[in-house]
Amino acid sequence: MAGRRYILFSDLDGTLLDVRTFGFDGARPALETLRAKGIPLVLMTSKTAEETLGYVRVLATGESFSVENGGAAYLAVHRALAPPPGSVGDGEYFRWDLGVSVRRLTGFLQAFNRSRGTDIRTFGDLTVEEVAAATGLPLGEADQARRRRFDLPLIVPPEDGSALELLRSEAEAAGLAVVGGGLFPHLKGPADKGTAFDRLLSHYAASGGSRTVALGDSANDLPMLAKADLAVLMPRPDGSFDPGLRAALPRAILAPGPGPAGWAEAVLDIIRQGR
Ligand SMILES: [Mg+2]
Repeated sequence: MAGRRYILFSDLDGTLLDVRTFGFDGARPALETLRAKGIPLVLMTSKTAEETLGYVRVLATGESFSVENGGAAYLAVHRALAPPPGSVGDGEYFRWDLGVSVRRLTGFLQAFNRSRGTDIRTFGDLTVEEVAAATGLPLGEADQARRRRFDLPLIVPPEDGSALELLRSEAEAAGLAVVGGGLFPHLKGPADKGTAFDRLLSHYAASGGSRTVALGDSANDLPMLAKADLAVLMPRPDGSFDPGLRAALPRAILAPGPGPAGWAEAVLDIIRQGR
């Protein structure tokens, strides 16, 4: 069907960005097509606001985004005539804080470690150099990655691996969640990428009839993938797909390859075929 309108929601790490280098060169052909056709690209990531703003700038999306696994949603000011209810002005954006504060998350994690004798840590417990080593991020981005407000990536020592399921069930009992996302499990509140998807999409719906496409690679992407008209699963570098995502989304489109090049191919195929 020609002339179909789209809104794209995309994860960053392991989806639009190369899982090891964080580059996106292979995605350029699709990024240019999106720009030429005026298709919004909304970044939906577990990264922090500081990190994500850097990508909004270099990718020149000029669009809304969500950070820290749905912890906060940033609506580009040009998408609303007036500040939407519950939002606060934040530079070029209206921001909703949707998540649970890291103060509460940290308190929960510390209490768990004390009671279970574990040593599960998060980025704030590490130096910038240690975060860079653990993630492969350059030092500047590693520093930005530590400044979290709503989501704690968990570094689980091998000897505490079996405690993760216990942490997950205790988190759920406390109204929190532990979710897999790329390199690390994350401790967070109940808001997720699906929460942020709904919040942002309501301000795009006015244009009417747009098809929503979401792209992701990990469990933390499931809530937005499940809400989109078209879900696209990105393979890992070895070509395999997250088994939980495949089982939950049997009708999802499987991207033809990993990383930015696979992302671009999947996006261009959808637009070309008018899916
Ligand atoms: Mg990812």
